[in-house]
Amino acid sequence: MVEYAAASGPVRAVDRVSLTLAPGEFLAIVGESGCGKSSLLFAIAQLLSPPAEIVSGSVRFLGQDMVTLADEDLRHLRWRSYSVVMQSAMNALNPVMTIGEQLRDATLAHEAMPGRMLRRRSEEVMRLVGIDPVHLQSYPHQLSGGMRQRAMIAMALLFTPQLVIMDEPTSALDVVAQRSLMIQIKALQREFGFAVLFVTHDMSLVSHFSDRLAVMYAGQLVELGGTRQVFKDSLHPYTVGLMQSFPSIIGERQVLQGIPGTPPDLARPPAGCRFHPRCPHVMPVCRVEESPVFTRSDDLVRCHLYANGHGPIASIHQRHD
Ligand code: SF4
Repeated sequence: MVEYAAASGPVRAVDRVSLTLAPGEFLAIVGESGCGKSSLLFAIAQLLSPPAEIVSGSVRFLGQDMVTLADEDLRHLRWRSYSVVMQSAMNALNPVMTIGEQLRDATLAHEAMPGRMLRRRSEEVMRLVGIDPVHLQSYPHQLSGGMRQRAMIAMALLFTPQLVIMDEPTSALDVVAQRSLMIQIKALQREFGFAVLFVTHDMSLVSHFSDRLAVMYAGQLVELGGTRQVFKDSLHPYTVGLMQSFPSIIGERQVLQGIPGTPPDLARPPAGCRFHPRCPHVMPVCRVEESPVFTRSDDLVRCHLYANGHGPIASIHQRHD
């Protein structure tokens, strides 16, 4: 659980979220702005800073709980075993250093490496992400938005980590650059076998790239399942609403519905199911009782519609948090 300290009391941004990620898997976390997906990602990456903090739970990675690791041990894991690609490369990159200097500093912070090897590795990762190594001499402002994001990914791959955590890495790009970057990320993932944890508000962006989808609403995980399964047969009414909010390029023309209303203020979430004020299937129980989590093998949904074997999925089982 992640909470933000506020004058009016703690605000819970991530509430009892439990996820596992297999080696080499691509898991996308989706939801509207303010649903807690970035807080969750920062918690996993151990990058939260006050007023946010993990108040309970663990983040297990390579047999260790990262929440209890000392800073020095975390520093060893970061970049080598897992790396993070931020939303805006312009903010993450140093504007007064060339890309080459930044790659050199990132490498030397974790491993002593002779100059020639260092240059070769920098050129190698630049080529991997489709940038001519000549741009090692470029400053961030001399690159396009797409190239800057690619440079960030090059940095994240310096040590070929087992996990790359990405926070909306394509959100500042136009759709063509977005798609080309996604194809590149997927190709690199296939080649090197690292797992990807990818946060986005854009479900359509990850539809062809992620293995599983985790849908968050108001700080909670409300649905988790295989990407194809979720797209074909969404279980949670919020996921259904998200699906109806973007156009499909195949099939009949459809009127985009959107989801009425806005996500709740996490300082004062509604009683019962947090989605109830916006839900087209709301029942009396939804207004007073939070739904338990129901599971079907590795899939999960948090919605009263599936209680007592009701709803479209008869074999779904209740999980107690
Ligand atoms: Fe809708 Fe009730 Fe399910 Fe919440 S629990 S999503 S209000 S049907």
